[in-house]
Amino acid sequence: MSFGKASVRDADVAGRRVLMRVDFNVPLEDGRIGDDTRIRAAMPTLELLRERGARALLVSHLDRPKGFDPALSMRPVAARLSELLGSEVRQAPAVVGEEVREMTQGVGDGEVLLLENSRFEPGETKNDPELARSLADLADVYVDDAFGAAHRAHATTVGVAELLPAYAGLLLQAEVENLTAVAESPDHPLVVILGGAKVSDKMGVITRFLDLADSILIGGAMCFSFFRARGIPTGDSLVEEEGVRLAAEALQLAESSGCELRLPMDLVLGDSFSAGAERRKSDGTEVPDGWMGLDIGPRTARAYADAVSKAGTVLWNGPMGAFELEPFAAGTRAVAEAVAAAPGRTVVGGGDSVAALQGFGLAEKVDWLSTGGGASLELLEGHELPGVKALDDA
Ligand code: ADP
Ligand code: MG
Repeated sequence: MSFGKASVRDADVAGRRVLMRVDFNVPLEDGRIGDDTRIRAAMPTLELLRERGARALLVSHLDRPKGFDPALSMRPVAARLSELLGSEVRQAPAVVGEEVREMTQGVGDGEVLLLENSRFEPGETKNDPELARSLADLADVYVDDAFGAAHRAHATTVGVAELLPAYAGLLLQAEVENLTAVAESPDHPLVVILGGAKVSDKMGVITRFLDLADSILIGGAMCFSFFRARGIPTGDSLVEEEGVRLAAEALQLAESSGCELRLPMDLVLGDSFSAGAERRKSDGTEVPDGWMGLDIGPRTARAYADAVSKAGTVLWNGPMGAFELEPFAAGTRAVAEAVAAAPGRTVVGGGDSVAALQGFGLAEKVDWLSTGGGASLELLEGHELPGVKALDDA
């Protein structure tokens, strides 16, 4: 399947005001930007617009403010962006309004203005038509590069796209193409590794890939929903109650599919969720009371790494354990190392899995690292994203 949407490459932007939706929803710690990956990911489209003499007006949400909140201003982002571009990016005091409008008039060819946090406007998440109209009035052209927000039908992702000529940015297109290719044109064997906290987050992906993948390898806390479904004691492990029913359903589906659904065969246990927890290995998968499973065990890690090394395509979403705690990071590290070294095509999505890879210094070794958590899962489930759908057809 081809992408099918109009590309920013084909947009006539010289001397025109371009409203570019970006995903600058970066982690802030005491007003400082923790990880600027998402800002850097927008640079190719931004550079292209500047080279072509566009007047770029950038808009993004940051966290989840309910109305104006000075602690969630985009100002630190404007500062970081100025450093990355090597020229000053001005910051508007609001998203829309007369003052913003006047500032947009002052933006020259190749210059960049960053609007305030789109969620300062209550109409943003409601896709309010009036807000969409006010946004559209600021610009001649709309470009969407905010893959991480493309699963939301908001005023800055959908409403405004319907009012202006609307193009896909380079990142948005690459995200959709890379993630779609895993499902639609993988080299086999296709190995899918799923972990993280909840089965319910990933059930849609499990169901779809039981029909597409050669194997699905389960790790993380979600494996305990599977064990519970099989009647295996899980001790004090994190178990999502709704997940037990879903896991039973997945096990049932797996029986009639050509895909093998694999669960851990050994575990690392801790007596509390903390880096100072007492720790012990468990040769099987039963977890006694007073203990919780916090990582996959070494035999499982080796088996999963081996499957990854033989895969034509690898999709990984969700850590294998509580990797933030050093004593329980080994399983996630082993999988990360295997993915980094894999000869097949490797695609990783999910905020925590990507953070884990970055923490291990392995991010560069993966073929595609998605910037979108929820959006990447929705796409992998086979859903069309509203932010993509709203763009002009090619
Ligand atoms: P991603 O962001 O990659 O999609 P998730 O958000 O689904 O991943 O899950 C990540 C979280 O799951 C991490 O905070 C990690 O600590 C937690 N987690 C993984 N395995 C376990 C476990 N066995 N027990 C408790 N928490 C776990
Ligand atoms: Mg997460």
